[in-house]
Amino acid sequence: MYTAQGTVLHKRIDAVHHESRGNNKSEYGLAIRSLEYGLIGKADVVEFVKVGDGYSLIKPVEYKRGHKKQENWDNVQLCAQALCLEEMFNLRIFEGEIYYLQNHRRTTVFFDDELREETLSIIERGFEIRKSGRTPLVFYQSKKCDRCSLLDLCMSKVFNPKSQDVSLYIHNQSIITGEPTD
Ligand code: SF4
Repeated sequence: MYTAQGTVLHKRIDAVHHESRGNNKSEYGLAIRSLEYGLIGKADVVEFVKVGDGYSLIKPVEYKRGHKKQENWDNVQLCAQALCLEEMFNLRIFEGEIYYLQNHRRTTVFFDDELREETLSIIERGFEIRKSGRTPLVFYQSKKCDRCSLLDLCMSKVFNPKSQDVSLYIHNQSIITGEPTD
C-alpha cells in the first residue's frame, strides 16, 4: 500500500515536465547518473537558480508520501542524487529538500561530510553485495511490512525467526547463504 500510494504521488510529479519562473527553473523526473559511483536514477524535482550566464545553484527535491523518519534513509537517497548532479554539472551541491506529504512542508537536508560518508559507505556496501552474489536476509518489521505492497515478493515474514517455525527459517537461510544447516 505504501508503495502504491507512493507510485500515485510520483505519477503526479512526473506528469509535469518543467516549470520556469524568472531565474528559477524546475525539472521534474530528471534522469540522473554517476559514472564514478555507478548510480543511475530519476530525481523527482531538480531546482536550478540562474546566476549570471549559467545555473550555479542546483537543489534536488524529493517527494515522500509519509512523514519524516527517525532513520536517515531519505537523506541518504537525496545525498546520492546530489552526488549524481555534482558529477553531471561539475559543481558542489550543499543542500536539498524533502517534501513529506503528511507534514505538508519541506525539510532541508544538508550534504555535510557525515552524510556524504554514510552515503558512500552504503554505495560501497551495494557493490560488495553485488560482487558476492548473495542477497542479504530481510527481517519482518511489523506494521511497516504489513502495509508494504512488496511483502509477497520480499517474504520478510518467512525469514523472521521470531514469527515462523525455526527449522523453516534455518532451511531458508541455508538456501540463501548456500551454507549447510547441520
Ligand atoms: S522488508 Fe520487505 S516487506 Fe518489509 S518494508 Fe522492506 S520490502 Fe517491504
